[in-house]
Amino acid sequence: MNPDTLQVHEIYRSIQGESSFAGLPCTFVRLTGCNLRCTWCDTPQAFVGGKRMQRRDVLAEALSHETQLVELTGGEPLLQSATRPLLSELCDAGRTVLLETSGERDLSDMDPRVHRIMDLKAPGSGESERNRWQNLELLTPLDEIKIVLADRIDYEWARDVILREQLADLVGEVLLSCVHGALDPRMLVEWALADGLPVRVQLQLHKYIWGADAQSV
Ligand code: SF4
Repeated sequence: MNPDTLQVHEIYRSIQGESSFAGLPCTFVRLTGCNLRCTWCDTPQAFVGGKRMQRRDVLAEALSHETQLVELTGGEPLLQSATRPLLSELCDAGRTVLLETSGERDLSDMDPRVHRIMDLKAPGSGESERNRWQNLELLTPLDEIKIVLADRIDYEWARDVILREQLADLVGEVLLSCVHGALDPRMLVEWALADGLPVRVQLQLHKYIWGADAQSV
């Protein structure tokens, strides 16, 4: 793929709904395309379409929203070769840069200033076998790991991985989320407290503010 252009689904300003940055103003650059098909995916609209843009124009538009925080998301941003240079250019511009990634792509050769929020896919996603476990060695305290849970089976899988791989020692935050409308957050909180897990339980703020099906928020 051309490192000078990107297939862009949308660029918009909102507040960050997840991660340790939740609640802060953030510009989102949502790129088109994903090679996974998580059963509970809430952004299937980004699988196809969007428009082809020069990387310099994506950078200019992302900066024009004037938020300190900028996130590249998707879809899966690392399917496009222009993503890595764009991440560095956003860092060069003084922004705090987040990358949301599925955990299936290789995370090596990335600007160390980027905060990577990497998913680990639990069994309920249907994509658990795509986790690239070698990525764990590349993560630093600047990064965060997110596991989205659909049920108790997913929770027990996550608990075992968190303890076996000592995830809390690898990254700044281990985030546990519920599939919206499938797993009651109260159950997750009770389970995590009962097991004494070193995690941050998070809600997707944007779904509580604008509704579960709202887009571009
Ligand atoms: S990796 Fe993300 S964008 Fe791709 S299918 Fe899964 S949830 Fe959707």
